[in-house]
Amino acid sequence: MIERAPIIYKAYSALWRIFDWLYPPTCLGCGEPLARWCGACQMTTKVVPHTICIRCGQLLAKRGICLRCQENPPSYVALRAWAMYKKPLREVIHRLKYRRDISLAEILARHMVLKHVTLDWEFDVVVPVPQGIVRMRERGYNQAALIAWPFALLTGRPYVPKALVKVRETPSQVDLAVQERWENVKQAFAAEGKMVEGKNVLVIDDVTTTGATMEACASALVQAGARAVYGLTAARADFTDGRSRL
Ligand SMILES: [Zn+2]
Ligand SMILES: [Zn+2]
Repeated sequence: MIERAPIIYKAYSALWRIFDWLYPPTCLGCGEPLARWCGACQMTTKVVPHTICIRCGQLLAKRGICLRCQENPPSYVALRAWAMYKKPLREVIHRLKYRRDISLAEILARHMVLKHVTLDWEFDVVVPVPQGIVRMRERGYNQAALIAWPFALLTGRPYVPKALVKVRETPSQVDLAVQERWENVKQAFAAEGKMVEGKNVLVIDDVTTTGATMEACASALVQAGARAVYGLTAARADFTDGRSRL
């Protein structure tokens, strides 16, 4: 699939290679020169195991449906992540989010494309989890959009960044406990009916922790008329201790 990528994707990817040639990076995992995140370190990334809730993707002792999803089925059909939010992936996302190392998003997108091949999902459009205006002003970019765009190019689906909007500013989820996270993002998003009505929507984000953000996005999309919503993130944090380790 990546070999058959459209020209625009190849150009985007080549641009980063030129940039790396001009300003040679070192691998964030092992310090190896000339790679931002070398192939060997990418190989050591711990992928999400098979023993998960088939709806929300949370780790379980054995594969099935978790209690939360049995009692309150989520608005999305399924939520999955490529790998566990541990080193070196944790460092990758940290650099992408806070240190403007934005070319890492394309590497994450490639792994997520390979992950999606293993999932039997039919989707019509790719939508990133939006960022609030305040965060966008501070950071200057939305890391979820930087992953979603190359993902859409590689999977040949329309990229629809305006399908979801953040209608309420929310404090960062980082220091919040589980219940606070669910309250924090409740009704924080709205979806544009014209762009999603009758469509299967794939929502992309960088990290899933409790799944609260993805649920809030999916709920808005379903309310706006989306037929089905799927969620895919690069990383999955193990939230079993009840507090984030982000
Ligand atoms: Zn390395
Ligand atoms: Zn679940």
